Order: sequence, then C-alpha cells, then structure tokens
Amino acid sequence: MTDHNPRDRASLQSGLEAIHAEGAGVYEHQMFNLAGVVELVEAAAAGNERARAYCSVLQHTLRVITASATPDRNDCMLCLLCDTVFWRGCRPEAFVVLHAHRDVPKQAVVQCICRRCYIAHGSLPNLKGAVVKKLRSDVIGDLREIPPPSAPGRA
Ligand SMILES: [Zn+2]
Repeated sequence: MTDHNPRDRASLQSGLEAIHAEGAGVYEHQMFNLAGVVELVEAAAAGNERARAYCSVLQHTLRVITASATPDRNDCMLCLLCDTVFWRGCRPEAFVVLHAHRDVPKQAVVQCICRRCYIAHGSLPNLKGAVVKKLRSDVIGDLREIPPPSAPGRA
C-alpha cells in the first residue's frame, strides 16, 4: 500500500479523496496500539500479506516522524484528536490506518494518536468512537459505520 501522511486538514482531505475513489466510497479503518503493532510485525513475519502491507505504511509513517528533528507544527504530523506535534522526541501511541474496503487496497491514509489522547480514552474501542466522531465532523460528513461481518475469516 502507498501511504499518505497528512499534516493538515487539506492533505487529509486529498488523501481521503484518493482512497474514496479507490473504494467507491467504502472505507475501512484499522487501529493499532503499540501491542497491536507488535502483533502485526509477528503476523507479517509469518507471511500474512495484509499485515505486511500495514507494517509497510506504519514503517513509513514512523520514518517521517523520526526524521523530524524539531517539533515544527507546520511540517510535522499532528495528533488526529488534538494538536500534539509528532517528531523525534514525541512518537504516537496508536495509529489509525484508513484505506478503501478492498481485499488488496492500493493506498492508505495514516493518522496518529498521541499518548495523552490514547490514555484519556482508556481503551482502543473508546478511542475508535472518538476517531469516527472526529472524521465525521472534520472530513467525511456522511460517514456511516457498517458493522463488520460476524463470521471471522471472510473471503
Ligand atoms: Zn492527541
């Protein structure tokens, strides 16, 4: 997957437009805290293609953040939920990967969540609610959630 690392609302909008076109308006989002990233790396090492794709976009995101030597709000990624600036000295606590709802998505938008927001929401499910609310209010006004299929291992 090619990733977009939006630094502001305009670049988030253009990244979402790209995956909107790819998925005919149906997105999927996955959230990973640091424990989830460890599981991803393990699944990728075991040969899981989807995990490998997520690892690739997260690796790029972390490279971008680590390359920022100072917290420059105009040039660094910001927390999706507040204005925390990510740079070498402040890394995300969780990641939101948005992509078209396809078996093999071609591109993704990666958003990061800071430690303070992560802790404030207490758990990944609570955080997910806040993320969906934020995306709906800021970028995808008509965002609707489709419940995931109940049976695991869908085709
Ligand atoms: Zn935050």
